[in-house]
Amino acid sequence: MIGANIQKIKQQIGSLVKLIVVTKNRPLTDLQQTYDAGHKIFGENRVQEMVEKQSKLPADIEWHLIGHLQTNKVKYIAPFVYMIHSVDSLKLLETINKEALKNNRIINCLLQVYIAKEESKFGLTYDEIRELLDNVAITNLNNICICGLMGMATNTSDTAIVQAEFITLKNYFNQIKLQYFKNNNRFTELSMGMSGDYMLAVNCGSTMVRIGSLIFNNS
Ligand SMILES: *Cc1c(COP(=O)(O)O)cnc(C)c1O
Repeated sequence: MIGANIQKIKQQIGSLVKLIVVTKNRPLTDLQQTYDAGHKIFGENRVQEMVEKQSKLPADIEWHLIGHLQTNKVKYIAPFVYMIHSVDSLKLLETINKEALKNNRIINCLLQVYIAKEESKFGLTYDEIRELLDNVAITNLNNICICGLMGMATNTSDTAIVQAEFITLKNYFNQIKLQYFKNNNRFTELSMGMSGDYMLAVNCGSTMVRIGSLIFNNS
C-alpha cells in the first residue's frame, strides 16, 4: 500500500512539486518499503533518528531534516543531509556552513517562517528573515545554499485560515526572492503542505510537500 499511496499523491501534486515522504516514528521496514517502491526522498524531524536510519539504509536516499535543529547537533547530519528545512537563526546557518565545509559539501537550507496563529517556538517573522539576509556575515557562507522558505500552517480544519497562511507565505517568498535573490536562480523552493493540507498548499504555490501519516497510516 505504501507504494500505491505515494503514486496517488504524486499524481495529485504533479511532476513539478517534490514529495518528501516523512518517515519520523516509522520503523525501518516502512522506509525500506518506500525505497523499494522507488521513492528516495525522506524527511525526518529528529537528528538522532535520522542518523540511525541513514546508517542502515541505501546511500542514495535524499535526507531532509524538517524539525528544529540545535547547533550542537549539526555535525551529526552534515556528512549526508541534503536539505535542512528548519533554519531559524544566523548562528545556525553559520554552524551548518562550518560543518558543511569540514565535509567538503554544500548543504541546502530553507528559512523557516512563522505563519501559524498558534504558539510555536520556531520560525522567523518576515522582518527577522530580512534582518538575517541583510546581515553581511551571510555573504561569507559559501558552503550553504539558501534555497527558499518553509512554513507550517495552523493546525485547524478551517481551510480559509490555512489558505490565507499559505498565500501569505507565498507572498513572502516572492518578495524575498525579488529583493535578495533576483540575480541567481537558487532561491526556488517553497516547502509547505502536509497530509491534511497539501493540495491547498500546492494550489498556493508550494514546490515541496512533506507527507507522513497519509502514506503510512492506512498502509
Ligand atoms: C510530521 C511532520 C510533517 C508530516 O505530517 P503529516 O501530517 O504526518 O503528513 C510535515 N512537516 C513537519 C515539520 C513535520 O514535523
